[in-house]
Amino acid sequence: MQERYCKCGKRIIVQYSNRKSDNWMVRYWQMGHNFGKTIRTCPHCGRKINIDSLC
Ligand SMILES: [Zn+2]
Repeated sequence: MQERYCKCGKRIIVQYSNRKSDNWMVRYWQMGHNFGKTIRTCPHCGRKINIDSLC
């Protein structure tokens, strides 16, 4: 797992998994009270999360 940041400063946890070595899967997690939930958009600014847009 890696810690990345949205452009708004929100911390996003990025998890990579390659179960069958055929393709990579990337999941984004939110740390906090509802940790355990994968997210597709930033919970703070609503921006669509893309690995290239995180810093
Ligand atoms: Zn954001």
